[in-house]
Amino acid sequence: MLLTTLAGSLPKPAWLATPGALWAPWRLEGAALAEAQRDAVLVALKEQEAAGIDIVTDGEQSRQHFVHGFLRAVEGVDFDRRQTIGIRADRYKAEVPTVTGPLRRRGPVHADEVRHARAHTTRQLKFTLPGPMTIVDTLADEHYRDRRRLALEFARLINEEARELAALGLDVLQLDEPAFNVYLDDVRAWGIEALHVAIAGLACRTAVHICYGYGIKANIDWKATLGGQWRQYEATFPLLAASRIDQVSLECANSRVPLELLGLLRGKDVLVGAVDVATDRVETPEEVAATIRKALAHVPAERLYPCTNCGMVPLAREVARGKLRALAAGAALVKRELGAA
Ligand code: ZN
Repeated sequence: MLLTTLAGSLPKPAWLATPGALWAPWRLEGAALAEAQRDAVLVALKEQEAAGIDIVTDGEQSRQHFVHGFLRAVEGVDFDRRQTIGIRADRYKAEVPTVTGPLRRRGPVHADEVRHARAHTTRQLKFTLPGPMTIVDTLADEHYRDRRRLALEFARLINEEARELAALGLDVLQLDEPAFNVYLDDVRAWGIEALHVAIAGLACRTAVHICYGYGIKANIDWKATLGGQWRQYEATFPLLAASRIDQVSLECANSRVPLELLGLLRGKDVLVGAVDVATDRVETPEEVAATIRKALAHVPAERLYPCTNCGMVPLAREVARGKLRALAAGAALVKRELGAA
């Protein structure tokens, strides 16, 4: 019980990409870049193991952007036709590629990355892909002109990819859907339907990550407008509880999410964000334990997985390492209290 994991990403070493920057440019190219990415995955795996994390990831060391990394392998998405649009209901501007024709996956996208990570850790391995709604919200569309239809098309491509990755020995395939906290009506209308297409027939557990975003200024400003209680999850959790998704990863640490909303996820594994990614201050194990204890009032221990609030890619490496250690140490404290360690 209380197996620890992380949302997905970790900061990249300075020899791989510019430190401290979101979507940082690579420092190398070609074969040298590919080799450096593989090396960085080994470092990320060993650092998670040393910190005591039970379910590890590749730290997303081989992708520059959590959505566009997958889109680059999709025919019909034109990266030469970039447009600046408002995304997440115009919360911030982003330069995005354009859908200009029928979508088709050119071939395997992340298979080599999963094979490499699987070969170098004996721990449970999780891999993340962008969810269909978040993809649709992170590009311009001049072909389908219908968000549901476009999401279902992407869900089909995600499913092709996810089936191949699961067959390589993944324990968990996670879809990142920060857009689920923005378009609550669309989650009901077609968001869950698209998730189901994306996870159909997978030979591993499935997770969806829904958060309030990285700790960047646009998100911090947005959170300030959400009032004293963040109740977005109240609309989506009952839909997820009735869905075929196995696990839900959410934000808890330092957030204004009323924790009783976790009770709406009955029957699901809950990845409880017990480490804040919007601050450089490293939590103490006792602070992490306090968040886990509060969540235990609403989630049974065997279904609770202490996790990070969101990806840690924008943080300094030493801060991220400290937060991973605090996460594992805090979980260990609570396990001892429960007589399970
Ligand atoms: Zn997130």
